[in-house]
Amino acid sequence: MRRACPRPCSFVHRHRHNLIRLRDHLAEGHRCADAWVALAHLVREPWQRLDCLERASAIDPDDQNLRIAYLEHYVVLHPEDAQAAEELREAKARRVLARYKPRIFRHQDASQPLGVILRALGAVSDTDLEVALEEQERLRRLGRPMLLGDLLVLQDKTAPETLARALTLQSRLRAANGAMPRTLSEYLIANGHIAPDQLERALLEQIRLRVSGKHEPLGEILLRHGAVDATVLQRAFQQHMHDAMTAFV
Ligand SMILES: [Zn+2]
Repeated sequence: MRRACPRPCSFVHRHRHNLIRLRDHLAEGHRCADAWVALAHLVREPWQRLDCLERASAIDPDDQNLRIAYLEHYVVLHPEDAQAAEELREAKARRVLARYKPRIFRHQDASQPLGVILRALGAVSDTDLEVALEEQERLRRLGRPMLLGDLLVLQDKTAPETLARALTLQSRLRAANGAMPRTLSEYLIANGHIAPDQLERALLEQIRLRVSGKHEPLGEILLRHGAVDATVLQRAFQQHMHDAMTAFV
């Protein structure tokens, strides 16, 4: 298969308003994301535009803005597709979060605060977040510390599903940034021992149990779900302890 055109493609830049030249460029076999984007601006029908954006995005799948443009068109034409709407929300959240990239990579604090992630997902308002943070501070002073996410769930500001998704995204972002895993779940994700959807399911169960006053370690839930075996878990615990000790050296 022919190599994809470099972006920006100089041919497309010269002929971006010329439908015929763009079609010829593609007909010659160029795999050209820019040509499809230019065509998307020229075609009349929404479904044609969607098709152009889909082809462009398939050629350059790492272009986040292109993927978002495709999904935005897609959800207009397919409003019943909840999964696509979800993917669009997450892609937009990732774009927002990319701007907040931690300055120091490979550092313990290379993380996005949960509040920032929930805001980026559009899951809570600034006001809800402020109220929850104040309540968290009040409880801390009373000697009853509570996780921000649990508070938001208890206050009915966030669904347990949304919190589980946000926590999973947080682990994935930390792993992508090369941050040292802080928790068992981050260790398992960073090392590819579990898939994000397995983590999300386990976290969801853990959150539901926790807000009803029951505490079950995540490792036990993952074992019960069959997401990991005992050997992997044991190794993860040891590595996790080792990292925790050496972080202070
Ligand atoms: Zn080209």
